[in-house]
Amino acid sequence: MKKSRFSCLLAAACLLPLPVLAGPSGAHVHGTARLQVAVDGDTLNLQLETPLANLVGFEHAPRTDQQKRAIRAMAERLRQAGEIFTPSPAARCTTVSVELESPLLQPSPPSGGDGHADLDGSFVFRCENAAALRDLEVGLFASFPKLRRIDVQVAGPRGQSAARLSPQQRRVSW
Ligand SMILES: [Zn+2]
Repeated sequence: MKKSRFSCLLAAACLLPLPVLAGPSGAHVHGTARLQVAVDGDTLNLQLETPLANLVGFEHAPRTDQQKRAIRAMAERLRQAGEIFTPSPAARCTTVSVELESPLLQPSPPSGGDGHADLDGSFVFRCENAAALRDLEVGLFASFPKLRRIDVQVAGPRGQSAARLSPQQRRVSW
């Protein structure tokens, strides 16, 4: 009797942190991506994390020429960072580097696993007039219609904030 009451207490205590843990971070949810925006001096750093399903419609190693072409086209599109992401025009930002990481971008993509795969993108811009850098328009929805939502975290000169973008709301401000 005493033992079972103790177990209940433990269970209740263990449940308490759950609402904190159950946030969107770390989840692989088709239709949703995560974007971290960091403004550091004259540098704008964007970290994108998305299920590949949002970009090409599948997450397994490409089996057909059409699927291989889809992967290449997706990567080429994302490397045109200046067309995908539009920082405040007055800030005069230009792309410094783009790095894409995904199992499907490897020369011989691994098969197996749990059948799910992500793409991580790192996009760095440098801005001539960083004081005017106040927002970012995200054009991913137009290029990748399977993407329906982006959870954005901003670390800007005035602190941290969060936003949720959609095809109807493509701009995040800080
Ligand atoms: Zn998946």
